[in-house]
Amino acid sequence: MTRRRPTALRPSHPLRSEPDAPARPRRAPVIFMLAVGGFYLWWCFHVRGALVTASEQFPMMGTVVTITVVAPRPVDVNALIEGARDEIDRIERLCSAYKPDSFVSRLNDRSGASPLHVTREEWDILEILEEARMISKITDGAFDVTFASVGRFWDFDPAHPRLPTQEEIAGAIDKIDYRRVTTDRLTSTVLLAGEGTRIGLGGIAKGYAVDKAIAHLRANGAYGALVNAGGDIYALGRKSKDEGSQAGSWRIALQHPRDKTRFMPGVRLEIEDAAVVTSGDYERSFVVDGKRYHHIIDPRTGMPATGLISVTVVARTACFADGLATAFFVMGAEKGLKLTERLPGVEAIFVTDAEEIIISSGIPKEVREVDLKSSGG
Ligand code: ADP
Ligand code: MG
Repeated sequence: MTRRRPTALRPSHPLRSEPDAPARPRRAPVIFMLAVGGFYLWWCFHVRGALVTASEQFPMMGTVVTITVVAPRPVDVNALIEGARDEIDRIERLCSAYKPDSFVSRLNDRSGASPLHVTREEWDILEILEEARMISKITDGAFDVTFASVGRFWDFDPAHPRLPTQEEIAGAIDKIDYRRVTTDRLTSTVLLAGEGTRIGLGGIAKGYAVDKAIAHLRANGAYGALVNAGGDIYALGRKSKDEGSQAGSWRIALQHPRDKTRFMPGVRLEIEDAAVVTSGDYERSFVVDGKRYHHIIDPRTGMPATGLISVTVVARTACFADGLATAFFVMGAEKGLKLTERLPGVEAIFVTDAEEIIISSGIPKEVREVDLKSSGG
């Protein structure tokens, strides 16, 4: 005997009331559900999940900061940009030597005296000074925030340039020593030992600020972002979902060190979740009697470093890349290249004053062959 299908759902349908009528599937509701589901998926991927891009520029940290953010539609990209800008602003207020109440200014005012207390809001200063000390160690003092003990006598603003006198340099050169800056996390203090010693964070603060801006963007739903603080760049994620031949990665061209209107002979880096920082002698400099004086000081002489006109460093954080780029400028191409090859995740491009381009072994081969015909590396 065949089993009778329950007919309670459609008691009024005459055909269905036949005991042995074949069961006809109910198509309409299924098709309807599939259509709704399909529409929902389409909406998720193409409307809700569609990426929105916004970009803004701000004059900050003595340069122009550009923040570009890519995020899925429900995320408010403008709020993300504002948040990232606030982070940079916060770091600038902490590190600026031009603001008399910044942590750095207050620390300089009490060099040789007792340790300065670090509040919760100022905690980043410990991170920056510890990173700076690590970079000083591995670069044998080429990077040294106490360069400012002599650096204070220089003014690189082309509107009112100033060269220090021999006496000024001689009187302050022995105050340069990165070991004079010590941090203590247990007591939340920073000590600047030795009267007359000063620090300047111009060689590392921008990179740290870029990292903080990126951390904010990452934590608040950005799909990708590019933060550029006057040549201190971090590329987060990708700029689009396009696949194939790295279409979605951020492309970075480097400015030619001697011609602002051109890019460096075709060097174009494609990066994802990495920093690219360039230090050049063209950023802040002046010329006296045909000689160019620029703002990266050799801590051994108190004079601008010689030999290179531009250094680009690729690293995992903008802070590390920033400090290294400044250090390599002082160390020169040969020592800089040697150290680069020892540091995991670090690559570098050096341009000598003879405009020879030297690049480290991890920069993709295509970049070298196609674009850097004059490459010496
Ligand atoms: P830019 O400001 O062009 O990005 P850098 O990151 O190389 O370039 O920073 C240069 C700044 O670093 C200078 O303006 C100065 O404040 C600081 N500085 C100069 N010489 C040194 C040094 N030997 N070690 C650490 N910081 C330095
Ligand atoms: Mg630097």
